[in-house]
Amino acid sequence: MASPASSSSLMWFRKGLRIHDNPALEHASRACDFLYPVFVIDPHYMEPDPTAFSPGSSRAGVKRIRFLLESLADLDSSLKKLGSRLLVLKGSPGEVLIRCLEEWNINKLCFEHDTDPYYQALDNKVKNFASAAGMEIFSPVSHTLFDPADIVARNGGKPPLSYQSFLKLAGKPSWEASPLSTMLSSVPPVGAVGRCEVYEVPTLIELGYNEAEQDEVAPFRGGETVALTRMKEALSNKAWIADFDKPKGNPSAFNKPATTVLSPYLKFGCLSSRYFYQCLQDTYKDVKKHTSPPVSLLGQLLWRDFFYTAAFGTPNFNKMRGNRICKQIPWSDDEQLLAAWREARTGYPWIDAIMVQLRKWGWMHHLARHCVACFLTRGDLFVHWEKGRDVFERLLIDSDWAINNGNWLWLSCSSFFYQYNRIYSPVSFGKKYDPNGNYIRHFLPVLKDMPKEFIYEPWKAPLNIQTKAKCIIGRDYPNPVVSHDSASKECKRKLAEAYAANQRLNGVVSDEDMKNLRRKLEEDQEEVLRTTKPRRKHSG
Ligand code: FAD
Repeated sequence: MASPASSSSLMWFRKGLRIHDNPALEHASRACDFLYPVFVIDPHYMEPDPTAFSPGSSRAGVKRIRFLLESLADLDSSLKKLGSRLLVLKGSPGEVLIRCLEEWNINKLCFEHDTDPYYQALDNKVKNFASAAGMEIFSPVSHTLFDPADIVARNGGKPPLSYQSFLKLAGKPSWEASPLSTMLSSVPPVGAVGRCEVYEVPTLIELGYNEAEQDEVAPFRGGETVALTRMKEALSNKAWIADFDKPKGNPSAFNKPATTVLSPYLKFGCLSSRYFYQCLQDTYKDVKKHTSPPVSLLGQLLWRDFFYTAAFGTPNFNKMRGNRICKQIPWSDDEQLLAAWREARTGYPWIDAIMVQLRKWGWMHHLARHCVACFLTRGDLFVHWEKGRDVFERLLIDSDWAINNGNWLWLSCSSFFYQYNRIYSPVSFGKKYDPNGNYIRHFLPVLKDMPKEFIYEPWKAPLNIQTKAKCIIGRDYPNPVVSHDSASKECKRKLAEAYAANQRLNGVVSDEDMKNLRRKLEEDQEEVLRTTKPRRKHSG
């Protein structure tokens, strides 16, 4: 424990699990005798919850927990090279931290600013304590390119809701012109820890997970070291960077994904988005011409900031009710359809393969995410986007509060994007990229011997073909849960009605209005069923 005469800083790591471009860490290291680099393990986030629908804690799937632990171990080893180490604390972050601030006589508390509502509440509690105790607090914005609060303020207190208006408001980042600091030669030593219990970075087994729960290991390892290598590798392919055109990428490419797979590293801040931005600009200088936002790689980073800003400036961004930018739609809460989607049992191999990739890898290509999110909500099943969001939030290794909610709002045509007549076909979309169905064969091995003609619609295969492929539909792999043709028509009709009601009511839709709308949609559906002939076979 530091004596009152010496000066001590505490660097509180949450995201920002890196040494490079870490202004909070730099500031914490300056002008002090001791530096306490701390990460708090919150049992709610990390400890196994056997009642959850997949291995993991009550909040996160085990794949993301593993990624986090790998990132912490990497950070610890980098700190050790600088003459320090990572101090792992356990417990409720607010309480544990306050105890250590007191015990270690901290003068300076540093942590990266975070806009997620969870951190906003927690940070206020810790900040209140620290400032009452007379500590210096330094909490810079370095997780995003811009400060969302600044952009919202410049827009009269509301976030810009279109990408173009966001770009116009954002302009160039203030730090763009001067190189970011990416190296630290040393940091002050850790002081005595006194009565505070300090741990090493735990393993999954130490957290209570057993081998069996760990399933297939995702092919992406966590940590700043891997992040920087991965980014440099991507940037070294200058032609690829120059031609990067997001909507043209192949969502079924899995041996070599069509995008960078830097999202989990950006999520945990193992990679600084600002450093990535600067390196990308340097690469652009070396090529004759390159693509531009929104489709370029730079454009993707700006999408990230766009959603951070929209999320920060919109109360109840993660909900339909009470969210002023969200259309009020009487989604269904059909648990069976939700479970079929979540457990890769929809009977549409393209959809199910993506959901298996989600469970096994915790990452899928952006367009693959589009397909399954559209299918669950406005495309086929009409299930509430919040339910799908929850599944992604748990299983993605890059699960990010602002980006995940923003994209679910988008894909369900609840906000940002309103062309609900444009629906992804669960059959022909994937086929365009991967006619042989290699992606499906990899993630759904039960279909690996299905001939190419039927791989996207196996229920159409004659029985002798199913037998030969050792996959009987209805026994080894399910029949489709809905007929895409009729389900998508139904969805469009419901969306049209809901949009009309939202417009009529000027966006102010009461519980009573929702009840009436739901009733009307159900009555209309019964009418449609009465007047249409018996169902045709599923046609995808
Ligand atoms: P690249 O194309 O290489 O892009 C580089 C970086 O730009 C990404 O790492 C990411 O940080 C950012 N980016 C790319 N696309 C988007 C986008 N549409 N919106 C915001 N930022 C973007 N991304 C997450 O990081 N976390 C999530 O929880 C998440 N949930 C999603 C849910 C749905 C329903 C959909 C449709 C998309 C979601 N995305 C999410 C956005 C996007 O799919 C991923 O960021 C991207 O696929 C990650 O792969 P990459 O790193 O190879 O992307």
